[in-house]
Amino acid sequence: MSRPIINTDECSACGICVDTCPQSVLEIVGDAAVVVNEEACIACGDCLEECPMGAIEEIEED
Ligand code: SF4
Ligand code: SF4
Repeated sequence: MSRPIINTDECSACGICVDTCPQSVLEIVGDAAVVVNEEACIACGDCLEECPMGAIEEIEED
């Protein structure tokens, strides 16, 4: 399994990842995107590709 990690220092809260995610995993809370529904992530990678700030990475987990 993998899950997205948001680097809140880099995030501009543009919301692109929220709109891109097909699983509603991400939301803007305050001034950054946060992972609110991690279990639903299908590790498609779309949020990473669309983030203009390079603020998202995925980490592998067992
Ligand atoms: S990897 Fe895909 S499913 Fe997971 S948070 Fe990003 S866009 Fe959503
Ligand atoms: S696309 Fe990137 S910069 Fe925009 S809200 Fe998501 S993590 Fe933040």
